[in-house]
Amino acid sequence: MNSSLTARCVFLGAPGAGKGTQAKRVAQHGTGEAESGLTHISTGDLLREQVASGSALGAEAKTYMDAGKLVPDQLIIDMVKGKIERPEGLGGSAGWILDGFPRTLPQAEALDTNLSGENALTHVISFAVPEEVLMGRLTGRRTCSKCGAIWHIEHKPTSKDGVCDQCGGDLTQRSDDRPEAIGKRLEVYRSQTAPLLAYYGDRGVLREIDANRSPDVVFQELLTHMQ
Ligand SMILES: [Zn+2]
Repeated sequence: MNSSLTARCVFLGAPGAGKGTQAKRVAQHGTGEAESGLTHISTGDLLREQVASGSALGAEAKTYMDAGKLVPDQLIIDMVKGKIERPEGLGGSAGWILDGFPRTLPQAEALDTNLSGENALTHVISFAVPEEVLMGRLTGRRTCSKCGAIWHIEHKPTSKDGVCDQCGGDLTQRSDDRPEAIGKRLEVYRSQTAPLLAYYGDRGVLREIDANRSPDVVFQELLTHMQ
């Protein structure tokens, strides 16, 4: 398989669909060769990074977060653009994978307005997983309170119940991984993010992938979609 990919993609999927994990994996694929590998841009990480670095955009974002408000779409887009357009931000990367943004139709439209020409989107990959499977994936998730490692009671169990294999810390269930919270997160996805499938479908950039399979199988298929 050719290890070099050139793509500018959005990974779309409900919580628990595995898009973050796969984005990391695709980004690491082919590293060691200067011109291969895509940069994974997790908007959550980018936001935390900018706030921590005290950049102008980060400081502005912080004023919204401190006030308990949502960070405006344009501010997020400016951060993403900054990362994409600054050569040192991407190294020798042949493209990028956007994970966690856009989540709504207005965000998708704004992103298109801001990314054109050599920065325009080439692929949108939709990770399809039935809701009952997502429910099982998310409710079984446990997070280490000390190092942040993520485990799963069925799919990635620790050798001792409730104890992190990596650091010995206590495992906890995040409040947003409890069943009621997951129901709400899936509902938000259905009402706000699922309409993006039609939007990108009309533009001819959408590829759907059956993500209810093993991570290795999903990964191999992803690579073929992104060639
Ligand atoms: Zn740990």
